[in-house]
Formats: sequence, structure tokens, C-alpha cells
Amino acid sequence: MTGAEMILVIEDELNTRTLIQVTLAQSGYQCVHAATGIAGVAAAFDCVPGAVLLDLGLPDLDGIEVTRRIRERSPVPIIVVSARGQEADKIAALDGGANDYLTKPFGSGELLARIRVALRSISTTSEQVPTSGTTTRGDLSINFDLRSVTVGGTDVYLTPIEYRLLAVMMASSGRVLTHQQILRQVWGPRYSAEMNYLRVYMKKLRHKIEPEPARPKYLVNEPGIGYRLRVANP
Ligand code: CA
Repeated sequence: MTGAEMILVIEDELNTRTLIQVTLAQSGYQCVHAATGIAGVAAAFDCVPGAVLLDLGLPDLDGIEVTRRIRERSPVPIIVVSARGQEADKIAALDGGANDYLTKPFGSGELLARIRVALRSISTTSEQVPTSGTTTRGDLSINFDLRSVTVGGTDVYLTPIEYRLLAVMMASSGRVLTHQQILRQVWGPRYSAEMNYLRVYMKKLRHKIEPEPARPKYLVNEPGIGYRLRVANP
């Protein structure tokens, strides 16, 4: 078992923790757990996990502070786990360096998909967009050298902003990006509040790449949080 397959679960509720541990063990992952934020931060450095599942509601530190402390010293992917209605906390954790989120209650399929994406993205950060190579998701393909995009083998003409938006989403495919993260990466740090830009360009982009723009297959909404480029088999 390599370090990359060890998952650290920071969760104070025994039932949720047991459910996560059983699901992960059945899929061949090793699991360590911590029931408090302080123990979780220590374990993140001691155990060198491949990914961290972090509950946002812990008895000592809140999840945003735990994310901050882990991020000071480690690039390990962090998936925050929260109750429904904690959108502001989720956004704060994602903007503070968490990589993705799950909302309770979640199914085992969803948990494992998020873990696979997190482990795959281990060596990348949300701020990196490739400048070479090709990435393909389903019918959608982007060539970073040529800055060209095809859907089902047919060239699609994108404006520079549309291309940049798609490149940012493809570079983080499978993973949620907050509205602010997308705005910063596509338009720059001064534009992080320009939600309208994002809505307008996301609509234009969907019309060019989605078979049914009103029911997006690739660029899906994460209500209240941001967008995710969905992948069938992460
Ligand atoms: Ca909790």
C-alpha cells in the first residue's frame, strides 16, 4: 500500500466516520481518522495521506481553520464535508485552499468519485493551466499547444476568453471551482466579484460545446458554489 492510497478522515461524528471508513476500506484504501481539528492537522503531517476528507463542523477548530493550517505546510488534496445549507463555509474553505466538497448525506459512489479525482490531481494546484498536451473528456478535447478545441472530432471556434474559461475548467476537471476561483483565473484578481461575466461566458461556452446547452453534460452548475467540469470516469 503506498502513501498515495491512504485517506485521512477528520470527522467527529462516529456514524459518518464509520460509513466513510467502511466504504474506503472496501475499495482498497487505507484509512486513518481524527475526531478533532487539532488531531487532524497533526495527522495530516505525520501520516502523509494521499487525500483528506474534512468535516467542516468539528468540536475544536472549524474546518476553514483546519484547511488553513494544513495548507501552510502541505499541498495534500482536501475534500470538505458539510451539512446542507453551509454554502458560505464551503466557499470559504474552497477559496482557502480546499480542493472539493461533499454535502451530507452522500452516497458511496459520489465519495469514491471525489476521492479518485482528488488523488489524480495530487500534483496540480487550482492555479495551473497547462500550456502543452491534450486533455479529452468524453467527446470534448482540448489541445493546449494549439489552443484548439474539438467536440466529437469537429473543430469549435472559441474566443480567447471562452478558450481560457474552458482551459481552466478542463485543467481542474472533475473538481468544483468556486465562482471566485474561476473569475480570478480567467479574468484576473481584480474581477473576482464580476459574477455576471462568468454567467454570460459560461452560457456562450455551453452553446458552443454542449449537445444540449440547457441541460449541460460537461459544464455543470454547483448551486451557490461554482461550476464543475463533469467527467464520466474520473
Ligand atoms: Ca461534525
